[in-house]
Amino acid sequence: MDFNQFNFEPALKEGLDAMGFEKPTPIQESAIPIIMKGKDIIACAQTGTGKTAAFILPILNKIAKSGISGLNTLILAPTRELTIQIDQQIQGFSYFLGISSIPVYGGGDGIVWEQQRKALETGTEIIVATPGRLIALLSSGKINFDKIQHLILDEADRMLDMGFSDDILKIVNYLPKKRQTILFSATMPPKIRQFSKKLLHEPEEISL
Ligand code: AMP
Repeated sequence: MDFNQFNFEPALKEGLDAMGFEKPTPIQESAIPIIMKGKDIIACAQTGTGKTAAFILPILNKIAKSGISGLNTLILAPTRELTIQIDQQIQGFSYFLGISSIPVYGGGDGIVWEQQRKALETGTEIIVATPGRLIALLSSGKINFDKIQHLILDEADRMLDMGFSDDILKIVNYLPKKRQTILFSATMPPKIRQFSKKLLHEPEEISL
């Protein structure tokens, strides 16, 4: 099996080739078709399994195929490092696609804050954010989340352990109810299941 099985848009396939991705990992084999169908999903997967590409690739493909532009995808992750890593993978895959992504994280100085604000004003399809910083931006009233179609929670167990649960629920209140929600977590304790019931609609579940 190789990536041809997914019938990705040619420009995305070019990005995959440029990144040196030849064969999907097991989590990619199982998650990508479900996400391409537009279904909600809970996926239990560790770092190092290729989980990032498992959620990025089908979303990029959907955006490319539909030709939509403007903010439509929100990815939440627990740390600044992870938002940067996810954003870099998106930039790599979308090199030939004309889809842009912005990492939004706290802890930087005023210059970082200013750069993030300016980049958001210029416009982007995807925001990759830590929940705390995004809340600060939301209260500034500068971003419009009305057109969000995809919400992705990466390392959900870590976000809950870090106390982001209330922030996430607050953010979700700004999003349209009709959207696709994708949750990735390294572990699946009961609190993640309870949390996911609040956010996901009839999700498929996969575990590797
Ligand atoms: P992740 O589990 O998302 O943190 O990915 C771990 C590493 O594996 C990252 O450096 C990815 O770029 C790489 N990777 C993920 N999927 C593939 C693949 N199908 N082929 C080659 N490298 C991959």
